[in-house]
Amino acid sequence: MLYKLQKEGYSAYLVGGCVRDLLLGREPKDFDVVTNADPEEIKKVFRNCRLIGRRFRLAHVHFGREVIEVATFRGPAESKNDEKQVLNNEGRLLRDNVYGTIEEDVWRRDFTVNALYYNIKDFSVVDYVDGMTDHKAAQLKLIGDPETRFREDPVRMIRAVRFAVKLGFNIDHDCEVAMHKVADLLSSIPSARLYDEAIKLFLSGYALQTFEMLRHYGLFQVLFPATEQSLAVEENGYPKQLLIKALENSDNRIADGKTVTAYFLFAAFLWESVQTSAKHKVSRGVPEYVAYQDAANEVIAQQVKSTALPRHITLAMREVWSLQAKFNARYGSKPSRLITHPRFRAGYDFLCLRAETGGVDPELAEWWGKYQEASENDQRKMTQPPRKSTGAKSPRKRGYRPRAKKTTPGSDV
Ligand code: ATP
Ligand code: MG
Repeated sequence: MLYKLQKEGYSAYLVGGCVRDLLLGREPKDFDVVTNADPEEIKKVFRNCRLIGRRFRLAHVHFGREVIEVATFRGPAESKNDEKQVLNNEGRLLRDNVYGTIEEDVWRRDFTVNALYYNIKDFSVVDYVDGMTDHKAAQLKLIGDPETRFREDPVRMIRAVRFAVKLGFNIDHDCEVAMHKVADLLSSIPSARLYDEAIKLFLSGYALQTFEMLRHYGLFQVLFPATEQSLAVEENGYPKQLLIKALENSDNRIADGKTVTAYFLFAAFLWESVQTSAKHKVSRGVPEYVAYQDAANEVIAQQVKSTALPRHITLAMREVWSLQAKFNARYGSKPSRLITHPRFRAGYDFLCLRAETGGVDPELAEWWGKYQEASENDQRKMTQPPRKSTGAKSPRKRGYRPRAKKTTPGSDV
């Protein structure tokens, strides 16, 4: 792609995470290309190209399942009234579509280590901001005045955490000071964008460390306010344990090359809030089933205001939660039906998590573990209700059947 752009008379560089990661000897997650061709011109060079984004217009070039992002150099707005670059009252950059040169582009990038350009022309790394020095020192330093840069885009604060954890870099002291100061501004970010960021944060393979660091900087409470509240109630007890175990398990799964699902983790984040709210409702006389449904609705409605979990995620979370009550029914035909539930596995894993962290009797989780492994015959035995024994041998004669109880219409016998 770089050569093709060059052949068409444009300059083109690799930039950002891929250069940073290659310098560390790591495999980049993706490749970002930057060029002096504007989006319309990029579209003319590549056949499989789509222009995306309003806030930040760029080109996506598709190669089968691969997508390479190609951006045009950004520059400063020519005047305060330039519609292509818009700031809000808090200094947040709402739109950034003023094109420029590489020398201008570098200043709008976030961290110095993310502002290194790889030039195919002479295989050199172009560095205007002393990013190589910070890279060697494993430092995350914002370009320019940290507070201004965080105000422009508060998401840079969670990016700082994400990179610090992923790369094992330190966040520069001035950035830290600014972060503590303006952490609350994160709440001005649209909930849909925060959802995208939350996914990157927690499905990265370093979810536990990320969680701890986000809390340290007061950022976690903006993303998951109800979770933060429930943590404040019981810092050393069971709720935090469940959450930590869920984060740990998720990291371990990724390390083992297994898949992880966002809904499972978010179900763990909000489980305590649902429980607390439901218990409160039950104490006021609401039937248990209704109380749990209502509590789940309320907690989710509140959550999506800050981080817009999409419907397919919240639906799956509800299923995981409502399965928890269903695991109590071990006798009769219910277990054989429950095991075919599409979310059974996730529900069972969640039950195990609760069992491990003192939220439910471990014997229940063990039973369901055995039940899944058992043969059909053994499953039938396991689900037979225990006989009430009187101790003495039954005096009943063979063939004796108790008389059927009379039922009245409308009764639920
Ligand atoms: P990774 O892809 O490994 O998560 P990255 O650094 O490549 O990390 P991207 O989101 O792919 O992150 O962005 C590519 C580059 O664009 C960044 O390295 C940075 O230079 C710039 N960039 C991205 N987001 C911002 C932002 N919010 N503010 C300023 N610059 C940004
Ligand atoms: Mg990238």
